[in-house]
Amino acid sequence: MQPETIKLMGGALCLDFANSTDWTAENESIEVEDALLESDSLVRWGRRVGLIAAGSGRDGAIAAELAAARELRPALRGVLIAAAHGDAPPGAAVDLLTRTYAEAAAAARLTPRGDGAYVLDWPDDDPRKVRFAVVADAIALLADAPRLVRVHVCPGRDCGWLFLNTSGRQRWCSMATCGSRAKMRAMYARRRAEASS
Ligand SMILES: [Zn+2]
Repeated sequence: MQPETIKLMGGALCLDFANSTDWTAENESIEVEDALLESDSLVRWGRRVGLIAAGSGRDGAIAAELAAARELRPALRGVLIAAAHGDAPPGAAVDLLTRTYAEAAAAARLTPRGDGAYVLDWPDDDPRKVRFAVVADAIALLADAPRLVRVHVCPGRDCGWLFLNTSGRQRWCSMATCGSRAKMRAMYARRRAEASS
């Protein structure tokens, strides 16, 4: 999976970040579907979601930053899922989110967003920008109870994508992928059952 082509359907920056790979039921990323494997994939993903302007950002390999982002990703996902379901989030993941947010806020500058609001922002050439913006978005989502309860996990096998189920009726991340696969499986199961009866 490439950062330039991966689907953005989370409805929030932090959810799209969690969806930069597919997931097992054990909250482990599935490497063949991971868009954040290459040394420059973080800055490419940042451009894809509009955090980093085209042509800016550092293209160089920043292995430590990629590792930090990849460590944050399952922690963030685990906390969001637990909190959305009203469960206690894992302590180590909460620690990492809190620590990262403190680091992000310390490096940020309060900046007008263009619509009258002011938000934390970081220079495009700060390699930590993607990770910091993602964690700030996650903290904002965690503070917003009506949105938080809408965080839904796609039940598709080896998918695990998160999205804001704003209608309350969306079951799959995408009807075209997980939804149709599930329908197909159900159809085959029905046919097998009919054939054997
Ligand atoms: Zn799915």
